[in-house]
Parts: sequence; C-alpha cells; structure tokens
Amino acid sequence: MSQWNMSGGVNQTWGEDGGPSNYPVDDVHGERLDDSELSDSDEEIESWITWYCGLKGNEFFCEVEEAFIQDNFNLSGLSAQVPFYELALDIIQDLESPEEEKLGPEQKDMVENAAEMLYGLIHARYILTSRGMYAMREKYLNVDFGRCHRVFCEGQPALPIGQSDTLRHTTVNIFCPKCKEIYFPKSSRHGNIDGAYFGTSFPHLFLMAFPHLCIDSATNVTFVPRVYGFKINSASPYFKPQEARNEKTRRRKARRKLKNADNEKAKPKSKTPSEIQEGEFSGRSNRVSQDDRRK
Ligand SMILES: [Zn+2]
Repeated sequence: MSQWNMSGGVNQTWGEDGGPSNYPVDDVHGERLDDSELSDSDEEIESWITWYCGLKGNEFFCEVEEAFIQDNFNLSGLSAQVPFYELALDIIQDLESPEEEKLGPEQKDMVENAAEMLYGLIHARYILTSRGMYAMREKYLNVDFGRCHRVFCEGQPALPIGQSDTLRHTTVNIFCPKCKEIYFPKSSRHGNIDGAYFGTSFPHLFLMAFPHLCIDSATNVTFVPRVYGFKINSASPYFKPQEARNEKTRRRKARRKLKNADNEKAKPKSKTPSEIQEGEFSGRSNRVSQDDRRK
C-alpha cells in the first residue's frame, strides 16, 4: 500500500497506510479461496463483480456490465491512476493471467486492492451512463443507500455522492433529494468507501434523468428554533455570533479610549519626556566640552 501515490486532500477516515482503516484484505482472500474451492463447474462460480458487489459494506456499488469494461474507450486515463493496472483489469474480468501466479502473497494483496480501486473508478463512470443510472435506480428504490437523517425529510431515501472526483480526497457521503444536503452514511463500513467511486455529479444527473423522482424543495419544512414558544430574533447573537463579537470589541475599545482621555486630564503637569531628554543631552554635551578643555 505504501507505494501508492497519495494525491493530497483531507480525510479523517483513511488509515495511516493510505487505505481505508478496516479494509477487509484478509476476508477478501478467504472468501475468494472458498469460492474457488466450492466447485469447478462454470455455472456455480460467480463473477468477481457479483462477488465484490455482494460483500458486506459494498451495498452502494451496482454491478458494472462486462461490455462497458471491455470497451477501452470507457477506461481511458485509468491506467495512470491505478497500480498493476493490467493485472487489476484481469481480476475484474475474471481472466487468468500467468503473471499473477508468479506474485507473492503481499503483491497479490496489492493487486487485489488495485482491482477494487479500478472497479471503483470504472463504477464512477458507469453510473453516469443511461444503463448505469437504471441499475442505480433499482438500488435507490430498494433504499440501498440509506435514508436522510433529517427529521423533516421523514426518511427520504438518499443517493451516494463524492465531494471530489479525485481518489483519496473524501469518503462517500449520501445526498438527500428532499433537503439537497449531504450527510455521512450511517454505517461505518460505507464511511470507508472512497467518494471518487461515485463522484460529485451522480445524484444531480440521476435526478435530471428521472425528473419524476425529484422533490420540490419549496415544500420542504425547515426547523424553526423557539424559546418558550417564541421565535428567536433574527438579529440575536444566536444567529449572528460574529456580528455580536465585533460589536462587543468596538464598545470595549471606545470605553478604553474614554478612560485614557479621563486619566490624561486628571494627571498633574510634569516634565514631558522630550524636555527631560533635552536636559540630559545638554548635560552630556557640557561634560564633553569640559573634557575637551582639560585636554
Ligand atoms: Zn433530507
């Protein structure tokens, strides 16, 4: 993991090794081995994509169609972003490669992680296509992405969104079509998925593609804070703390200025610092002239 290029950004949920903190690396191999040991017959072996999307915590992913992955045009630019690109692509497509056999267990883990990363990036592109949006619509109607946490949204099903299209910038969030706000997903498992696997545009394009699923924001009830039944004044520091702080500072400064002016008036007349300095200077100059005379 350490050789992966960290492309800047802030995130609170990535592990120190640059990967999600509870990435099921060992589970991945355990389950894959179990699958291959079950049966040799073609019918019973599920594809890597079906297996990956069926893993606990991967409910946000839809299954990308093979035809989409086989079209090189759809993958342009991804080879520069993903390490072990060719091997990772072979894994996603269930292709056996002699090179993979030569890898040690540690390198196999890296390739497996690279395959997951590559799948995520392909997924981000696929869900913006018409077929991808239909696949995501199924999941949305199934409430696979969870619901909005806001009380007045009354359990509105949400859509996944990333705050960046760049890898390892932020984790996936959920977008509510009712309040048009974003939230952290409820499950910590979903909180470890990279937001770039869904992208910044998906929920908005999705709602534009299916306008009957859009919800009028004007009908949205907003929460009104009240104290003993009364609304709080809009000019109150409750709403404008910065303005209140600025006003307080302004008053304090004015008070200090007034106090200084009063003190100045009350002081008895005494020698000003410039008068004292003048005296000292003339004394010193007298001494110098006496010394000169002695010479
Ligand atoms: Zn909402």
